[in-house]
Amino acid sequence: MMFPNKNSVAYFSMEIALAPEIPTYSGGLGMLSGDTIRSAADLKIPMVAVSLLHRKGYFTQGIDSEGRQFEQPAAWEVESKLVELPQRVNVLIENRTVHLRAWKYEVIGCFGFRVPVILLDSHLPENSEWDRSLTDHLYGGDQHYRLCQEVILGIGGVKMLRALGYSNLQTFHMNEGHASLLTLELLDERLRQSGQSILTDADVETVHDQCVFTTHTPVPAGHDQFPMDLVSRVLGDRDVYGMKNIFCCEGKLNMTFLAMNLSRYINGVAKRHGEVSQHMFAKYKIDSITNGVHAATWVSPAFQDLFDRRIPGWREDNFNLRYASGIPTDEISQAHQVAKQQLLDEVERLTNETLDPNVFTIGFARRATAYKRPDLLLDDIDRLQKLTDQFGPMQIVYGGKAHPHDDQGKEIIHHVYQSRKSLGEKIRLVYLPNYEMKLGQLMTSGVDLWLNTPEPPLEASGTSGMKAALNGVPSLSILDGWWIEGCTEGVTGWAIGEDDHQQHATDRCEDANSLYDKLEHVIFPLYLQVTQDYAEVMRHAISLNGSFFNTQRMMQQYVVKAYF
Ligand SMILES: *Cc1c(COP(=O)(O)O)cnc(C)c1O
Repeated sequence: MMFPNKNSVAYFSMEIALAPEIPTYSGGLGMLSGDTIRSAADLKIPMVAVSLLHRKGYFTQGIDSEGRQFEQPAAWEVESKLVELPQRVNVLIENRTVHLRAWKYEVIGCFGFRVPVILLDSHLPENSEWDRSLTDHLYGGDQHYRLCQEVILGIGGVKMLRALGYSNLQTFHMNEGHASLLTLELLDERLRQSGQSILTDADVETVHDQCVFTTHTPVPAGHDQFPMDLVSRVLGDRDVYGMKNIFCCEGKLNMTFLAMNLSRYINGVAKRHGEVSQHMFAKYKIDSITNGVHAATWVSPAFQDLFDRRIPGWREDNFNLRYASGIPTDEISQAHQVAKQQLLDEVERLTNETLDPNVFTIGFARRATAYKRPDLLLDDIDRLQKLTDQFGPMQIVYGGKAHPHDDQGKEIIHHVYQSRKSLGEKIRLVYLPNYEMKLGQLMTSGVDLWLNTPEPPLEASGTSGMKAALNGVPSLSILDGWWIEGCTEGVTGWAIGEDDHQQHATDRCEDANSLYDKLEHVIFPLYLQVTQDYAEVMRHAISLNGSFFNTQRMMQQYVVKAYF
């Protein structure tokens, strides 16, 4: 039974990380959606979320003995994890009727408040085999497949919400451009209500007043664009294509422009990303709300116990994490050692390699793709070795999937893996396969230093460093994305390079040198010789950054700035 709240926010996202056993996410965007919904439930924000079922998931990553990624389907058992709803709707795709059903998953907040998540599914006997496959693969197939999926998400999603009784939703939040076609359905609803056949400016205005859009990347490939002939083929001919400044841009449907044209509020996901986006899309007003992570999901069990003892109420009100400043540093170090051992146990289980809990350990995990430069740390292996001559051994734990079509990303994984051969005895490196939610939790909490080396200004926000901070793990990171806001040098972690505010790429060689300099002159000496001071940085990571870079604070900002 659904009890639709009239004032609900409808949150649309192509991927949502709901639970480790439901692999319907690829990475950062899905994690953020999941954490958004978890915090909405904690805060009792009336919300209903919409996504696709992704019956075959994203993919399971394997890494062969040469360090080559291979992909396996990640099918999962839908029936035991979700509840099928009786409602049915359909959408027109290439003039065929595609029937849709919905499955419900409920996210339950810390006070028992529920946010329903509606996952659309075309796997019905009424549909052709091809149409049945449309809700199978997250980010699979070609442009045609993607556009059909986006029709289901945007148009099918609005129709399903109406069928479920959400007649008067306050706000439609498009989390990235994949959901932009929901605006078309809202416009069509206006036509049906008015009985007219031509849209008026007032109709457009009404839809514009209902929608909110969040953009997540300055990387051009992250903004879906479809040629108009494909759009006409899939969606049929529509009057709206002719409306100036709304739909068509240089012969293409650009999902980001469509969303921006029909949204009353637009934001980027960190202060700098807001500025970069404003620069990219000068015609629009673009604000920023800095991302966060869901604290209770990402804090390791050892730190959960510690926080429960020392700062009760931290789950319900994350601002309490500020008072981590009063936790004795030896308790923080102890909790960290427990988290570290849990990671090392998992490393052993996955790779048969036994790492040493007393050796300084660096973590790096994110989507393996060129601009994130996962191998920057390995640019000068001689210099890394000199560090270990001076300071003793180190360990490096890597993780991250490359998109199946990203050959460059796969090559980087291979390069990282192969570099093991030249690292010598004092540097141990493991690449953990299939980085997903559970591994994300173990890695971000179990290493001693979280490394992030993207090429500025392409990191919109980044969130794994926030997970690390909540677990008392400081970051060493390029000044881009959230780290521009989170880094207080030597207090919450350390910067690689400087921020020249120029929004252009930095020199790779300079960045690598800065990375090694920080390790050599600051971080290693602190870790080995002034252990107490390292623990102080860990404590500040929690009290200054954990207390702020969480989705509870983020959702409060969405409520104030975007939703109501
Ligand atoms: C947190 C997380 C991400 C996103 O990390 P970024 O730092 O935002 O790139 C991706 N995958 C997994 C499994 C995660 O836990």
